[in-house]
Amino acid sequence: MSSTSKITFYGGIHEIGGNKFLVEDKGTRLFLDFGNQMGKEKQYFSEYMKPRTFNELGDMFEFGLLPKLDGLYRRDYSQHMGFDGKEDTAFNAVLLTHAHVDHAAYIHYLRPDIPIYCTQASKLIMQALQETSAGGDEYIMFKENFQLHRDKKTGELVRTRDVLKTPRQITVFEPTKRFMIDSIEVEPLPVDHSIPGVSGFILHTSKGSIAYTADIRFHGRRKADSEKFVEKCAQANPDILLCEGTRVHETFSSTEYEVENDAKTVIDRTEKLVVCSYPTRDLDRLLSFYNAAKEAGRELVIDMKQAYLLKLFQTSELWRNIYPKPDDKHIRVYIPRKKWGMLGRDPAIWNEDLLKGDYYSWEREFLDYNNRTDYRYVSAHQKELVFSCNDFQLKELIDVRPEQGSQYIRSTTEPFDDEMELSEERVINWLVHFGLIQKKKQLTRSHVSGHGDGTQIKHVVENTNAKQLIPIHTEKERFHKKWHSNVKTVRLNKSLELR
Ligand SMILES: [Zn+2]
Repeated sequence: MSSTSKITFYGGIHEIGGNKFLVEDKGTRLFLDFGNQMGKEKQYFSEYMKPRTFNELGDMFEFGLLPKLDGLYRRDYSQHMGFDGKEDTAFNAVLLTHAHVDHAAYIHYLRPDIPIYCTQASKLIMQALQETSAGGDEYIMFKENFQLHRDKKTGELVRTRDVLKTPRQITVFEPTKRFMIDSIEVEPLPVDHSIPGVSGFILHTSKGSIAYTADIRFHGRRKADSEKFVEKCAQANPDILLCEGTRVHETFSSTEYEVENDAKTVIDRTEKLVVCSYPTRDLDRLLSFYNAAKEAGRELVIDMKQAYLLKLFQTSELWRNIYPKPDDKHIRVYIPRKKWGMLGRDPAIWNEDLLKGDYYSWEREFLDYNNRTDYRYVSAHQKELVFSCNDFQLKELIDVRPEQGSQYIRSTTEPFDDEMELSEERVINWLVHFGLIQKKKQLTRSHVSGHGDGTQIKHVVENTNAKQLIPIHTEKERFHKKWHSNVKTVRLNKSLELR
């Protein structure tokens, strides 16, 4: 066991996202986040060009998308590809700031016995991600792959997949309660961002303290948390601050409350259906549309994924009074027609079981909700509804048929690369086709980012009293250098020793 204390940067430096920082102190080894380097992964892989299942880790190592470390990865994958897998687990924990993919997605590859420490909200979001997505990233439940078992009847060896299910060790920490991971004391501190339950950290090691902003902003519903984070850091005098900088080059941010107001304004002037698109897991944004719809005497129509998430959040003492229940009287849960399209057919011929067969098992409970709805109701009650319709649900417009006098609000991030530009062009074609806009220029946008602008990050840098600063989650480190006299530039896969 090495006695040097250090941080090694396996992603999340000189790039936006992909945070994977290994902190080592007195033999304790923990990762701060274990995210997907989206930009870098896209250089080699795509939806149609994925790593090969039988050599998945190897295909990722090939391009440096995962660090090649022993005792870190799931044994079924590593043994199958001959990357050992028999050695002991060599890591104590992953401390997760939040459940966005660029911080959490590669948890899928980790051994299930490495504990993941996160907030309750992050756990619930990961649960929703795993249970409601077809891809099945194994955030909270782990299924052994590449196993054989002997068939009871024939006695033959057959492939086993998805039979052995093990829950991962997910340890939920309280928002501000300190805890120990071996020799390191962890002080979690909530911050404001575009998903619920985000936590920054101050790590107290034997060689000083390391503060980590996570993804942070000061223009959402939880601005006071971010202020408190800065205050607590100032008191701790951190030796090192890992500070994000996604939007350091910008100088202005409107607020989440302004998004809510924009939604109110559009709803007020709309005679027919209000259609909107916003990120599924940004529940603070959902709340903006919920509040705006409620105030106008309309109901918000949400999809089953959002309903599922709201259902899970009702299990949390901390969150159940912040977000509405999925069967709230101002909410309707939209059931789309799927597969054979049984919904709306004569139940005498097409019975209940056939209808259920159109849906995944996690979706079926919503068929029994009193506030369920479908295209027939939405189409017939356009004046009374705000219809949440993300880009994958635009097909519903074929059934819903917005009438003249309907409006659309786009509450998502603006495209920042060619791929996004192309897919937004497609969205616009749909909106024009259904008369929601006449041309691109008429698109109503109202969105705020999950990240602080330069003014906000400068505030963090100047008021946390950190002795040394390391810019992370950014491509523009020169801004941090303007605001702090001791900025350390680190390199990918290299370590910084703590003294
Ligand atoms: Zn994030």
